[in-house]
Amino acid sequence: MKSWLSFFALYMLCCGMYGKQTQVFYCDSPTGKKYHFSKKCPGLQKCTHVIRQTNILDAKNMKLTECLIEKK
Ligand SMILES: [Zn+2]
Repeated sequence: MKSWLSFFALYMLCCGMYGKQTQVFYCDSPTGKKYHFSKKCPGLQKCTHVIRQTNILDAKNMKLTECLIEKK
């Protein structure tokens, strides 16, 4: 029973965070093609345009791909 609960907690942590409600950041410029989980990502610091926030589904709909710097 205890292990089931910890599995459930892990599931919530994992899939709750990376579900469709996950907020991501992207640079609203013609060259911006990545979305970032962290606003402090080095990839976003290079953005000279407006940094916008959206959810991960919309980011994917905009043909943005996951930031490679944060992906480890
Ligand atoms: Zn990034």
